[in-house]
Amino acid sequence: MDTKIIFEKSFNRSNRNFITKMDVIAKDLTEIIPTSLIRKELPLPNVPEVEIVRHYVNLSNKNYGVDTGIYPLGSCTMKYNPKINEVIARIPGFSQIHPLQEDNQGSLRILIELSKLLTEITGMEGFTLQPAAGAHGELVGLLIMKKYFENKNILKTKIIVPDSAHGTNPASAKMAGFSIIEVQSNEQGEVPLDHLEYAMKQGDVAGIMLTNPNTLGVFDRNIKEITRIVHENGGLCYYDGANLNPMLGVCRPGDMGFDIVHLNLHKTFSTPHGGGGPGSGPVGVIEELIPFLPEPCLISNKDGMICVERKDTSIGRIKAFWGNFGIILRAYSYILALGAEGLSRVGRISVLNANYLRHNLKKRFHLPYDRICKHEFVLSDKGIPNDITTEDIAKRILDYGIYAPTIYFPLIVNGALMIEPTETETRNNLDRFIDILFKIYDEAKENPDILKKAPHNTPIGRLDAVLAARTPKLRE
Ligand SMILES: *Cc1c(COP(=O)(O)O)cnc(C)c1O
Repeated sequence: MDTKIIFEKSFNRSNRNFITKMDVIAKDLTEIIPTSLIRKELPLPNVPEVEIVRHYVNLSNKNYGVDTGIYPLGSCTMKYNPKINEVIARIPGFSQIHPLQEDNQGSLRILIELSKLLTEITGMEGFTLQPAAGAHGELVGLLIMKKYFENKNILKTKIIVPDSAHGTNPASAKMAGFSIIEVQSNEQGEVPLDHLEYAMKQGDVAGIMLTNPNTLGVFDRNIKEITRIVHENGGLCYYDGANLNPMLGVCRPGDMGFDIVHLNLHKTFSTPHGGGGPGSGPVGVIEELIPFLPEPCLISNKDGMICVERKDTSIGRIKAFWGNFGIILRAYSYILALGAEGLSRVGRISVLNANYLRHNLKKRFHLPYDRICKHEFVLSDKGIPNDITTEDIAKRILDYGIYAPTIYFPLIVNGALMIEPTETETRNNLDRFIDILFKIYDEAKENPDILKKAPHNTPIGRLDAVLAARTPKLRE
């Protein structure tokens, strides 16, 4: 397997004179940049064009993506992204504008229209599209919560985060300056109402941050009770809607009593992601919280679309300009292309697909929370023959040419395998996935060694994950 980097393919590394000398007088860089950081030379590889093309095409062929096959990475909603969204995001009128340009009324209108659509989808009353990712949206939502209470002169220092929350929830709460009260889920994977009530009565509690469906793929059936208890005790309810997929067109956080919600456009509204960005995590709020949204904010009046600043109440600016406009465009085009009917099919089929897998896979694998799931569910490695672990299974899945599920998350399930098929997989693909997992189960019984040493067919075998994390080799 060819794993050479482009520098190792260079013919003559001393031949670096192909860049024409600049005819402008260079500024003395030492005035602005510390000498230790200034390059003395630029060692570009010397490779013929055809070899460059082959190098990068071959590299891209080694990559696995949603366009290659099933990508059942729980919590990440790796669904197919219709290509029409890409075409629209590349229209020069959108891709080649600058946010400081005047006469951007068309683009501003898209921001307003998408906000309106999201408002309708979530049952909220106002939106900001600025946050750059889900976790960023969480921080924004929590800062809004904080500002709301500060504005009322009420001291709130704590927030409730159930143990079934996404990992970013407690991290964002901490960043926003809250201390966290963790509530343990019950055997159903839901928030115990008596614990919640007890926690809310501890004083200075700003409210709850709930991931729903939670990381077990479970929809909390007491959702309305939860928001009632929090509100009755003077708190606000935050909804982590990063995984809104199963809810689309079926139910809305606003109707469940939530005050703030963030969405992940790069998951639910079909934007390619997984390489680390860019993303978009819009935050929606109820009427009472609109004054606290980040500035600048957009309104439309007789002069067209204008941006206003409200320094008195807003939490301030949280991102340059208007957010990741390309992602916003893709979401807008996705929503308009599907329409209300299409979105609700997304919701229903993502749930159907997950339950189809859950129902079949539980014939071999341990399913700790055995109940109807939403868009995803969690298996564990309990009881797999010959001490085969979740990691062994995940690595062996790669040998069959597909991507592995999320592993060892959520933390409340030992040896978790978190599976999210998404609505864009066909019945054939789901059946193939089931077959592969059943085959692997049989291998665990009959030939455990093949699992323990997997993967065998990938460019690189099993890595020492601890070594890689502790002493990563990040450069040539
Ligand atoms: C992915 C995810 C997040 C974090 O979103 P990022 O865009 O990765 O910051 C938060 N909550 C849930 C439930 C998620 O699935």
